[in-house]
Amino acid sequence: MMDAVNEPGVREVVFMTSAQIGKTEILNNILGYFVHQDPSPILFIQPTLEMAEAWSKDRLAPMIRDSDALTELFKDPKSRNSDNTLLHKKFNGGHLTMAGANSPSSLASRPIRIVLLDEEDRYPTSAGSEGDPGSLAQKRTTTFWNRLLVSASTPTIEGESKIEARFQQSDQRLFFVPCPECGAFQTLRWAQVKFDRNKPDAAHYECEHCAAVLQDSDKPWMLAKGEWRAQAEFAGVAGFHISELYSPWVRWGEMVENFFKAKRLPETLKVWVNTSLGETWKEATEGVDHTGLLSRKENWGRIVPVGVVVITAGVDVQDDRLEAEIVGWGVGQESWSLQYHVLHGDPAQAKLWEDLDRVLRQPFQRSDGVSLTVGCACIDTGGHYTQKVYEYCKAREHDRVFAIKGASQIGRPLVSRFSRTNKLRVKLFTLGTDTAKQMIYARLKIHQPGAGYCHFPAEYPEDYFRQLTSERVKTKFVNGHPTRHWVLAKGQRNEALDCRVYALAALYILNPNLDALVQEMERERITKQKPEPATPASDGWMGFDDWNFN
Ligand SMILES: [Zn+2]
Repeated sequence: MMDAVNEPGVREVVFMTSAQIGKTEILNNILGYFVHQDPSPILFIQPTLEMAEAWSKDRLAPMIRDSDALTELFKDPKSRNSDNTLLHKKFNGGHLTMAGANSPSSLASRPIRIVLLDEEDRYPTSAGSEGDPGSLAQKRTTTFWNRLLVSASTPTIEGESKIEARFQQSDQRLFFVPCPECGAFQTLRWAQVKFDRNKPDAAHYECEHCAAVLQDSDKPWMLAKGEWRAQAEFAGVAGFHISELYSPWVRWGEMVENFFKAKRLPETLKVWVNTSLGETWKEATEGVDHTGLLSRKENWGRIVPVGVVVITAGVDVQDDRLEAEIVGWGVGQESWSLQYHVLHGDPAQAKLWEDLDRVLRQPFQRSDGVSLTVGCACIDTGGHYTQKVYEYCKAREHDRVFAIKGASQIGRPLVSRFSRTNKLRVKLFTLGTDTAKQMIYARLKIHQPGAGYCHFPAEYPEDYFRQLTSERVKTKFVNGHPTRHWVLAKGQRNEALDCRVYALAALYILNPNLDALVQEMERERITKQKPEPATPASDGWMGFDDWNFN
């Protein structure tokens, strides 16, 4: 891999690799080679300035100290002057500058012949406001006919990965190794690692040609006989991809063990795919397409379907209105969206809250005569009217009308135990909104009525479904760690989704035994001599006309 820097016509070398493969040593060796054999102005870039300083102290200094050739070439490492600082060192015939990709000033200035980029996928998208750090550095090499850029990184997310983009422009070399049994060459792939979950240590590699069982002990022989083969046309860029499957320091069984540890959560699995397989993570689009939901609208009129045994409500507070969804729940948390209200008015005024009272206190009747009311309601306190919500809920705690606030951390339970630390000592529940949205979106993908299925009435306009499906999961890197974020489509409102989150939370606070309730209501129905004639649910139903289409 290191020899590629001397191949004729090569102006860029790309290493897209897993961890545990000696990637940083490769860059260090290439640096040492140029200092010794082909002295030039060299720029070595780390993701941050702090990492550049640490690399200078912990990796470069020992390398210079331990190599007689390098000790000779660098100016006295003990002396501190402009020729020898932590981030800039002169040597015979050239100089080495170390920089952080987050610091535009350290990337600008003098011309450079050799640019080395370490962990490029961890670089910020832009160095200050100057643009892509890798491209900025590359620009400084343009005056050299024999310029060279070397980038080595573990990849991140498909479509966003810089190292993957570089690899795709390269001649895409993969390492082919022969099978000790049949001699046929192949690249090592995760799919060929065979294992028993309970005995990860017994994992082996299965030859894709002859199905021979290959052991870790076969690896050294296979690696020694292996060769790089390009998979694409060469156009000045030599690219190498290699994974932990080849690592002489990691057993296949260890990889299986780590895989099962990582597999529990999408975010840890992503890290495993990046660092062990050296592959980009294909982001599952956890969004839902709203047009598919439109076709499942049902016309059950204003009478509550018989499957509903519990009713909850979720209320979102905006500066000029309240929005509220009334949701009916049945066995397996199958749900029916019974009503959606947009109550216009000023949340600072009592009038609007009286309107909400009418919505939350209305009686419901099922087509078989069973009567129901809203069993629990959750109202968001996150807007500008926190105090008003507290006051409203304080007077209605006995009716199970609760104040809630959202928390977006990953893995947070849907509903945590309430606190009363606010001024009015109102019960305040914290909701895990990431958890709730994942649950709701997973359920919207269920296509058959039954457990988890979501029913919607014919009256709801398209905008309701657009709001319900307005968010997507994106992975952002926070301090180098992939983190899930819910991102709202541009210009899109999401009150309908928020209301559903709160109504679902209300069900979990109420925590009813849905199966037992079904049986109870069945008994109630049978003992009733004559079902009451069905009447419309209430005059509080705002329905279709009230929708704000803007
Ligand atoms: Zn074989």
